Amino acid sequence: MANVYCMYCGSSNSSVSSLTGGSCSRNPEGRHHVPYDGGEKSKYYCKFCGSSNSSISSLTGGSCPRNPEGKYHVPYEGSEKSMYECKYCGSRNSSISSLTGGTCPRNSHGKCHVPVR
Ligand SMILES: [Zn+2]
Ligand SMILES: [Zn+2]
Ligand SMILES: [Zn+2]
Repeated sequence: MANVYCMYCGSSNSSVSSLTGGSCSRNPEGRHHVPYDGGEKSKYYCKFCGSSNSSISSLTGGSCPRNPEGKYHVPYEGSEKSMYECKYCGSRNSSISSLTGGTCPRNSHGKCHVPVR
């Protein structure tokens, strides 16, 4: 069985229940690890700024200039696409970093576009 990774810190475990039973130092909303839903990838992109890294733990260890809820990068859960669409307003761009660099008129949680999965 594939490992499950925490989306906030990259900790891994063989089961969701063991993972979510552990406490997470980087979860901005709670105290426990939260499973990353996007599966294993060769590269992970931050959904707020488009920074990429080959591991979740390295990605989430960096501070994110565009994360409205926390301090760190958060891995994008969708697959790599040729076009990314903002989940709030439907704006499109060919890269996550360009999309999230734009100001979103409909995002009530932050200022920037956020890619839909
Ligand atoms: Zn964690
Ligand atoms: Zn980021
Ligand atoms: Zn938008």
